[in-house]
Amino acid sequence: MALTDEQRERYSRTLALRDFGEKEMVSVLRTTVSVVGAGGLGSPALRFLVAMGFGKVRIIDRDIVELSNIQRQTVYNTSDIGRPKAEAAASNLALMNPDVEFEPITVSIDMNNAQDLLKGSDIILDGLDTVQSRRAVNFASVRLKIPYVFAGAIEYYANITTFLPGQTGCLQCLMGDVQDNPENTCQRVGVSPTLLPMAASVEVQEAVLIAVSRHPRLAGRLMAIDMNDLAFDFFDIGRVEDCPVCSAPTKRTAEKHDSPSVTMLCSGSFNISPAGPTAIDTSAVARRAKRKYKAVERPGFVRIETDVGAQITIMQSGNAIVKGVSTASQALHLYQEMLNGF
Ligand SMILES: [Zn+2]
Repeated sequence: MALTDEQRERYSRTLALRDFGEKEMVSVLRTTVSVVGAGGLGSPALRFLVAMGFGKVRIIDRDIVELSNIQRQTVYNTSDIGRPKAEAAASNLALMNPDVEFEPITVSIDMNNAQDLLKGSDIILDGLDTVQSRRAVNFASVRLKIPYVFAGAIEYYANITTFLPGQTGCLQCLMGDVQDNPENTCQRVGVSPTLLPMAASVEVQEAVLIAVSRHPRLAGRLMAIDMNDLAFDFFDIGRVEDCPVCSAPTKRTAEKHDSPSVTMLCSGSFNISPAGPTAIDTSAVARRAKRKYKAVERPGFVRIETDVGAQITIMQSGNAIVKGVSTASQALHLYQEMLNGF
């Protein structure tokens, strides 16, 4: 594979770097990256990946664009509010670099689907905001032997490291059985808009090193950024001898659930994820809902507003976002009402 004249021009400033030539560029063009979570970290990471010319970019996100996202989620425009993030990100980024092939997927990643969603990727890049979904990604990374560039950011602090299955420990080795802390969400403590692209740059730099078969600098090391003090620290991290995930990956099987799962998002909305692969006829849902409520149908999703101020967006994948309710059971009730009739 040789570069076209247009590619030589487009990537000329990368190709001019002293340790980066056409061979490396071709490797990047042939690399598939899955970005899980297209929010604060995922947005700048996607912009860098696409600008740099990664060949195929899979965007996995369960959420829809909200006004409060745009302060830091730089891949969206105000006109995208209400659209599924994966779709909006792919269509906006395609304008930037038509070389790149996009695979937007609007689902909530979990233990049931992570391996299917990530299969075929060369690199997994973290843009998630819960430990629970990261555990599913970590499990799939170990099982599928795909490098996982981990990053987490909240308030002024970010941590980044790269897990190489078979060579380094995994997320379970690093975090043990730590659970999500509901007190520590970005809605409550905030997140610095300048911290995110910095952490995302480091993630993408690690992805480039993996793509060109060089050793990622953060394999076995954790980088900690404190944006408030502008301090950067590095810690060696090891492997846990009897880690239940990476020492004996065959011992543990995926946890299955047989009813839809509900998660509260950082925005205060609820995400509903179906129990298994689902295909919803959103036109039929819209027609039924219109008898009672206000419904707007768009390609791939339907948004319904109820008379009590709740709003539900249901995607063809069965994934849904519910706003304006206060409990998970209210969200689930609304979801089931919309799918099963009133
Ligand atoms: Zn491990």
